[in-house]
Amino acid sequence: MSTVLQARDLTRYYEVSQGFFKPSAQVKALNGVSFELRAGKTLAVVGESGCGKSTLARQLTLIEAPTSGSLLLDGQDAAQAGKAELKAMRTKVQMVFQNPYASLNPRQKIGSQLAEPLQINTSLSAKEREDKVRGMMQRVGLRPEHFFRYPHMFSGGQRQRIAIARAMMLNPKIVVADEPTSALDVSIQAQVLNLFMDLQDEFKTAYVFISHNLSVVEHVADDLMVMYLGRAVEVGEKDRVYERPLHPYTQALLSATPSIHPEQRRIKIKIEGELPSPLKPPSGCAFHKRCPHANQRCAEEVPELRELDQRMIACHRAEDINV
Ligand code: SF4
Ligand code: MG
Repeated sequence: MSTVLQARDLTRYYEVSQGFFKPSAQVKALNGVSFELRAGKTLAVVGESGCGKSTLARQLTLIEAPTSGSLLLDGQDAAQAGKAELKAMRTKVQMVFQNPYASLNPRQKIGSQLAEPLQINTSLSAKEREDKVRGMMQRVGLRPEHFFRYPHMFSGGQRQRIAIARAMMLNPKIVVADEPTSALDVSIQAQVLNLFMDLQDEFKTAYVFISHNLSVVEHVADDLMVMYLGRAVEVGEKDRVYERPLHPYTQALLSATPSIHPEQRRIKIKIEGELPSPLKPPSGCAFHKRCPHANQRCAEEVPELRELDQRMIACHRAEDINV
């Protein structure tokens, strides 16, 4: 199975000011995250807001360099790449945001916005670019004759189709989609998810699909990474994890998710309390203050990600609590 992206121990710290007289504090937004993205497959990254998902998206799209750790994109190490190489690598990873309106220029006709990546990165003529754009518009369910319209003339769902078309223009290896349907009406969400899946079948694009919603990702994901306060806590094949989640946090998220298979939600855990501040993460396992299984060791020692039952998991007590 070929891999298009490998993250190894990806870590990103931010310095945050705490006021003039106080020393700045360090937030570990991403704390040693490792995973592989399989070619043409979808990895869903799931967790509450503040768990590091958007920081991860900025690393994967090469907008921001990690503090440490490595990122291999299509076999190429981003840290070793020069300026020109990095530019070429960036065209292989495209991003779709939650709010399509924010990523589109309100003053520019959508045809020319969609042609822009082609103009910058290819030597196609104006006519060839226009043909390609019209073809992609059709492909994503827009009317090619709307080439000269402005973004405000489209509905929210259509604007997300435009953003998806724009991401696909250069036939990227990877699309990182950050909550791409959560700003849309529920009736439109399924259509946009289906579009993502059809495009994946056709273009073999791999997706990193970031969401807080496990019922959304259930239908699109091949693999799943559950994050909590900057760390991966459970990583594995989606079906396996949904069938039998082993980490208490994954169990809690899944038991709170209405599903078409309620019999799979055997374990009922309620998450107590709020997500702690990343500025002051709890000692030991960051989940220990909310975990019903926490013991003394959990409060003291950070659980490392390790292999168990054909997935990776970071929990000291996974064997005791999953009998
Ligand atoms: Fe709960 Fe301890 Fe496992 Fe953390 S390590 S999830 S606190 S049992
Ligand atoms: Mg798929």
